[in-house]
Amino acid sequence: MTDAPAQGAPAPDTSSRAPRGESGQHAHRALLDAFVAQHSGPGGLLDAARWEAPERPPVRELLAAAGGAGLFRAAWRGDGALARAVALHTALARAGNGAPGAAVLTHLEVSARLLGGLLPDDSALHTRLLDGTSTASLAVTEPGAPGSDLSCLHTEVRGKEGDVRVSGEKWFISNAPHADLMLVLAADPDRLTSGRAGPALLLVDADAPGVRTEPVEGCGHHGLTGRVTLDDVRVRSVPAPAGQAMLLLGRHWIHERVMLAVRMAALADAVLEHAAEGARTRHTFGAPLTANQHVRFTLAALRAETEEARAAALQAVRLLESGGCPAGYAAACKYRAAEVLRRVADEAVQLAGADGYVRGHPAERALRDAEGLALAGGTDELMLMQIERG
Ligand SMILES: Cc1cc2nc3c(=O)[nH]c(=O)nc-3n(C[C@H](O)[C@H](O)[C@H](O)COP(=O)(O)OP(=O)(O)OC[C@H]3O[C@@H](n4cnc5c(N)ncnc54)[C@H](O)[C@@H]3O)c2cc1C
Repeated sequence: MTDAPAQGAPAPDTSSRAPRGESGQHAHRALLDAFVAQHSGPGGLLDAARWEAPERPPVRELLAAAGGAGLFRAAWRGDGALARAVALHTALARAGNGAPGAAVLTHLEVSARLLGGLLPDDSALHTRLLDGTSTASLAVTEPGAPGSDLSCLHTEVRGKEGDVRVSGEKWFISNAPHADLMLVLAADPDRLTSGRAGPALLLVDADAPGVRTEPVEGCGHHGLTGRVTLDDVRVRSVPAPAGQAMLLLGRHWIHERVMLAVRMAALADAVLEHAAEGARTRHTFGAPLTANQHVRFTLAALRAETEEARAAALQAVRLLESGGCPAGYAAACKYRAAEVLRRVADEAVQLAGADGYVRGHPAERALRDAEGLALAGGTDELMLMQIERG
């Protein structure tokens, strides 16, 4: 267990290799553009067809390529890192119909930021996570318990010091079919991990005896989420014992919700642009669709909503940069961005007619993804509860 996370140890900044300042952001932008150009096109890692095909999507290959290009090191921590993360999610919202961006966001938030932040910077695992050659999932939601209420977890930690074990079932776990590590939230009824009440966050090897993972097909991304069965699995380490796990995850979810809002605003922007271009070129009754004021007003109203969602998300990023974004504000951004993405995708399908209903059309794809993004990282109702609390 040489890579066991050091609990509570603040990890030093290792982003020194990332370009800094305004010219650094330009250099990063150029690196990102080159990465997207290199991997787009038929058969490429960002080819939408590869992310819709019945075969496994090329998650590991994409993560290794992005890590190899330095995109995770640039975006995970340090001066200007959040701006580079925003640029990454924005660029990937337009690539491969948006699907590859889901795998990258999970990797950046869970593997690089959450797990990477718990590891010593010089550990081999830390290096692999930032290089994208290793990836982890965060397994919280269970098929038999409400994911919105984490006091009801059925997954439990048992055993004794030196031989901690976990059993239970998780589902809809992003990147799980591709992960080699899992951060598992489990009830700790015997107060084994710290003597305190509450769930604990455990690190488990995805290939450990007793772990079974299979893809769960939802209506959105294909092959990205998984069902994980844990049968008396030996725990690799306890990154956050009972009493600490929920605090750690609370901070993680604020960050993740802000980045999900960034991603949803970027997806809405991309789909809206595509819809506007389609309405300009599609003719009915001898005139382009945009000859109708109703169509122009619809597009304009959606543009206003998209800009509003993007501005709110970028304000949340600034708050994170300056030391803290309130949980209620992060929730408001995620809630609003999900609502806007749904509306944009729905109108974009309508504007494209039957074309927009074809599987894989950007609007149809965004409609499916909007539903998933509204659930992932906490549902709309959970966001409203958090907004109320502030
Ligand atoms: C694409 C995708 C990716 C995901 N990735 C992950 C992941 O990586 N890791 C992970 O652990 N989970 C993941 N999830 C699961 C997601 O976090 C959960 O689906 C979500 O938190 C809701 O939990 P649940 O599905 O158990 O619904 P429940 O909690 O059972 O809720 C059912 C419904 O009731 C509503 N509700 C609940 N309580 C209240 C209340 N008090 N008042 C009003 N309404 C209420 C909810 O909002 C929801 O609409 C993902 C889901 C999707 C779709």
